[in-house]
Amino acid sequence: MRYSGFQIFKQGLTGNSGWKPVWRDPTPKPEYDIIIIGGGGHGLATAHYLAKEHGLTNVAVLEKGYLGGGNVGRNTTIVRANYALPGNSEFYSHSLKLWEGLEGDLNYNVMHSQRGVINLFHSDGQRDYAARRGNAMINQGDDAILLDREGVRKHLPYLDFDNARFPIYGGLFHPRGGSARHDAVAWGLARAADSRGVDLIQNCEVTGIDIEGGRVTGVQTTRGAIRAKKVGIVVAGRSGQVAAMAGMRLPIESHILQAFVTEGLKPVIDHVVTFGMGHFYISQSDKGGLVFGGDLDFYASYAARGNLPMAEHVMEAAMALMPMIGKAQLLRSWGGIMDMTPDGSPIIDRTPIEGLYIDCGWCYGGFKAVPGSGFAFAHLIAQDRPHESATKYRLDRFRTGVGLMDEEGTGSQHNLH
Ligand SMILES: Cc1cc2nc3c(=O)[nH]c(=O)nc-3n(C[C@H](O)[C@H](O)[C@H](O)COP(=O)(O)OP(=O)(O)OC[C@H]3O[C@@H](n4cnc5c(N)ncnc54)[C@H](O)[C@@H]3O)c2cc1C
Repeated sequence: MRYSGFQIFKQGLTGNSGWKPVWRDPTPKPEYDIIIIGGGGHGLATAHYLAKEHGLTNVAVLEKGYLGGGNVGRNTTIVRANYALPGNSEFYSHSLKLWEGLEGDLNYNVMHSQRGVINLFHSDGQRDYAARRGNAMINQGDDAILLDREGVRKHLPYLDFDNARFPIYGGLFHPRGGSARHDAVAWGLARAADSRGVDLIQNCEVTGIDIEGGRVTGVQTTRGAIRAKKVGIVVAGRSGQVAAMAGMRLPIESHILQAFVTEGLKPVIDHVVTFGMGHFYISQSDKGGLVFGGDLDFYASYAARGNLPMAEHVMEAAMALMPMIGKAQLLRSWGGIMDMTPDGSPIIDRTPIEGLYIDCGWCYGGFKAVPGSGFAFAHLIAQDRPHESATKYRLDRFRTGVGLMDEEGTGSQHNLH
């Protein structure tokens, strides 16, 4: 069923009784050409592009819970292409271009809003780095504008510019950055994949990976064994556990990231804003809530909830940057499990097991990567060679030390990326 203004009008006249379920609820078949483990943003995007770009539709996505119940529905929804290092730069640039056509591609309103991202800086050294990053973005063909203090004030007059510890010197403005409605992204991708014949199977946890003679032959699940010629692992915070089913130990640690949302307020924050002297980022949702987050909880865990010391740390950063936020009531907070790599950059690669592929290590920046990752992973699975946007996301860089992409410059400590 195609969505359109006419369709809304027509359904309105007939009591909204003609809408169809957004995806089917199929029984798993005994065998597929391709199984994707994980029905998050990346898994659903992979299925969508396998069907759309490569005509591969004998595909199942196996999800242990419900579609969109993982990090894809828990994040702070920031979408941007402002990376500095070769490898990341071209990948996120490609992903942003896919975002810009995603609603038309999916025939689904994912509320992609290019409201602009402003990264603040608070010292001369930070200004130099912002200029360097801006130049890298422009060289990649993306947009970046270096704002001085007065330039920032025009966009964000409510900030505390003269904070005694962290005065604002300026900001790097990325006009094409912004946000999108996270769960609509999952629903739109699911609908598009399902409409091309992909089976989306919920409440189906993969509990084992079958391998014969060094080649993957299928998976064991809570709904029985399913055979497959190729299997892709895309399970975000659970990557280490699922890879272990195939006897692999990944260079990944899982950590908690929290997010917070206030009561609905009248429009006050037009952009996505990030603080330069602490990890704090904020935007306002279309419902009016201020949505913000900060650092990881700093210890490895599989609990999808956070602890109060980090909540306090994030609130302190918020108050230092925009004291007006102290008047807002906090409505709720939650956490998600992040698959952190030692260099902070992801992995999209074949594994040593024939027919088994992995897409992981998105740390806490994987929402913006959803279309780019799905596109590149589908290409890898379908053609057995990496897509040009993702040639540097090799698994073996952590064994050889060649090709590491440490965007934060913090060294090989997972929780600092
Ligand atoms: C609080 C928070 C804020 C964030 N903010 C941003 C942001 O602003 N911008 C940004 O770009 N990124 C952000 N991220 C990161 C982003 O959400 C993740 O990197 C990305 O969503 C991970 O990919 P995914 O969507 O495929 O993961 P998920 O949605 O977690 O999908 C993985 C799926 O695999 C399933 N699964 C796991 N094990 C199995 C199994 N054995 N069998 C079957 N299924 C299994 C899970 O149930 C899950 O549904 C944030 C994350 C959090 C938690």
